[in-house]
Amino acid sequence: MTHAEIEEVKKLLSTRKNIVIVTHKNPDGDAMGSSLGLYNYLIRKNHNVKVITPNGYPTFLHWLPGNDKVIEYTENPEAAQARIKKADVIFCLDFNTIKRIADVGDHVKKSKATKIMIDHHPQPEKFPDYLLHSKKSSSTAQLVFDFIEMMGDKKLINRKSANCLYTGIMTDTLNFRIGTTSAHTHRVTSELIDAGAQNSLAYANVFDANSEDRIRMLGYSLQKMKVFKEFHAAFIALSASELKKFNFQKGDTEGLVNYPLSIEGIHFSALFTETKGEIRISFRSKGNFDANKFARKNFNGGGHTNAAGGESHTTLDAAVLKFVNLLPEYKDELLK
Ligand code: 5GP
Ligand code: MN
Repeated sequence: MTHAEIEEVKKLLSTRKNIVIVTHKNPDGDAMGSSLGLYNYLIRKNHNVKVITPNGYPTFLHWLPGNDKVIEYTENPEAAQARIKKADVIFCLDFNTIKRIADVGDHVKKSKATKIMIDHHPQPEKFPDYLLHSKKSSSTAQLVFDFIEMMGDKKLINRKSANCLYTGIMTDTLNFRIGTTSAHTHRVTSELIDAGAQNSLAYANVFDANSEDRIRMLGYSLQKMKVFKEFHAAFIALSASELKKFNFQKGDTEGLVNYPLSIEGIHFSALFTETKGEIRISFRSKGNFDANKFARKNFNGGGHTNAAGGESHTTLDAAVLKFVNLLPEYKDELLK
């Protein structure tokens, strides 16, 4: 955002507005943390604000302040559509393409509201009126902090907002481990703690909230994992009946794809899960291997260099076979 644009947005938000915040399908910690962090700030500025998610999200995110006010589109499409219809401003958080908000996308596209996108995924689409974007940023939550600072409103960040933004940064950096964690990330985090963020509570609420089934599924998945040492790659595939055996709940497979990457010499990992009518795939890589490119080209997906996702409308076995058969083609890039 240029200086002139920042001034325009300041002016836009200087009077009470009907605001909708939308985030991507299957929201994760950053999607909900950034959206509710922004929500708790905007309501303090006296706006009329609603967060709309395309569908549900894991229970370990339900403690985030403002969660009880969120509309899940799949649960209540009429209420969501009405909100979008009367919106003056729509914030688009943590996604770079309208496809990522599923059925909500048609209504957002139709709306005459001013659209402000805040995101850190590469190659953002050009539909928003204002774009605050950096693919170097650890998370969208970090960019929301930057945005509030640009608005000259850092003092409006209260404990509720701080807990949400902290959680977004914590989850997208995998607890401040991955390469996007910068000095700025830590400075923002320290300011959030000063503003009241409860860092160890956030960790406990998100990461120490497992069911016994989830931990047993983790053990089972690690036993099942296939490793291709010659390609520095590995994958885990879970069928619908396997997921059912462990009483699968939304969010139970979150983070599972990272485990194979902790094996020395493994640079690329995939997780296949069979859900209603489609195969979801998560990709993670270490170093230079471009998981985003791989997901875009082969599995109708996208994401970041080191974290991407995609889908397949084949059987689970066929999707896995496609992946395995692609590895030789990527051998040079995987060995780099
Ligand atoms: P996850 O594996 O956690 O679902 O997704 C990892 C990253 O890839 C996230 O940043 C997410 O936004 C992105 N991503 C996941 N699935 C898709 C997809 O189908 N299309 C696109 N463009 N990005 C995706
Ligand atoms: Mn994110």
